[in-house]
Amino acid sequence: MRNSKGSLIRPMPLPQGASTPVVTPLSPSVVYASETPDALDDQYEGRVHGYTYSREGHPNADVVAARLDAMEGVTGGIVTGSGMGAVTAVLLGLLRAGDHVIGGNQLYGRSLRMMKEDLPRLGIETSLADPGDIDAMRAALRPETRMILVEVVSNPTLRVADIAGLAALCQEKGVLLVVDNTFTTPRAFRPFDHGADIVLHSVTKLLAGHSDVMLGWVGARDRDLNDKLRVFAVTAGLTASPFDCWLAERGLLSFDLRFDRAQQTAQALADHLAGLTGVLRVLYPMRDDHPDQTLARSLLGDQGCNMVSFELAGGRAAANAFTRAADGLSFAPTLGDVGTTLSHPASSSHRALSVDERAALGLSEGFFRVSVGLEDQGALLDVIAQAVAASQQV
Ligand SMILES: *Cc1c(COP(=O)(O)O)cnc(C)c1O
Repeated sequence: MRNSKGSLIRPMPLPQGASTPVVTPLSPSVVYASETPDALDDQYEGRVHGYTYSREGHPNADVVAARLDAMEGVTGGIVTGSGMGAVTAVLLGLLRAGDHVIGGNQLYGRSLRMMKEDLPRLGIETSLADPGDIDAMRAALRPETRMILVEVVSNPTLRVADIAGLAALCQEKGVLLVVDNTFTTPRAFRPFDHGADIVLHSVTKLLAGHSDVMLGWVGARDRDLNDKLRVFAVTAGLTASPFDCWLAERGLLSFDLRFDRAQQTAQALADHLAGLTGVLRVLYPMRDDHPDQTLARSLLGDQGCNMVSFELAGGRAAANAFTRAADGLSFAPTLGDVGTTLSHPASSSHRALSVDERAALGLSEGFFRVSVGLEDQGALLDVIAQAVAASQQV
């Protein structure tokens, strides 16, 4: 192995010891060498396991995929370079021109964009419908409908999809039910147990959890679908880098604890906000005043997750004062970070909508979404209460 003359260029292998590392090693190698052409035959023909080229697969991706597979209760899921990579693998890897797909009407912004712009450009027809309204979904079905894509809890209005009703409808019509489980996570909801055919995640958010990893995951119950997703992801270059997978694995080790803690604080924050002057309404799935309270209980039990939305009186001026006074909380368009983040849909995620379109969703200039993090509960409630008070003085 060692080339003392220095004429060959090859790094030194790691020294082997009698002990083993307790942390998964990072394997950034793009390519994997084989002993002989025969050995490569064995590998390609499935008699032995091995890697060849990291776009096709690598150990760190397999480690993360196996963990996420277990969390969602499926085998053969794949890790993608982002949550949108997972959405793309499903929509472009499984549909063909002439097919029709229905999306939830409040999907993540880029998923909506793909439904509205990119799929039609490729000859795939799309419709949007309210995933909490089975009659509306049924009315949107066509003979060519192949797939329904929904999120369990919508962003940022936290409306709840009728997953049981959708699963029954999809089964009746032979349509694939695809669930984006990013907001709910397998800790609160396991879509395969409720009839989903395909589940996907932005691992970037709660699962990796530290805002330092861009990653997605998608898995199907059916083996052939998983194979199709994998082949398309590899061909389209949607697969993930070893470093992101390595960091994501570390994040996943503490996911359950982080989720439980953030959720507990979110419930407390929702109840606290509801009692503050200047707060017009609070949205949290476990509150009795949530519009989908019964559906939320039936799907999530008592798990309301970590997102809380609310509306301040006083419009944009109050919103500016609120973010200015919310000392130590990032006003940043993400969710699921260890730190609490604030999102203002009217100026960020939903700015492309007209005022009327936003009004139809209930998104006024005073509307905020809070992704609750791991701060001390009392400290967080105090900062937000003080920022709400400051917002009402302008
Ligand atoms: C963020 C997000 C995505 C996209 O994930 P990226 O990792 O940012 O590509 C998809 N769906 C939902 C619900 C999200 O919140």
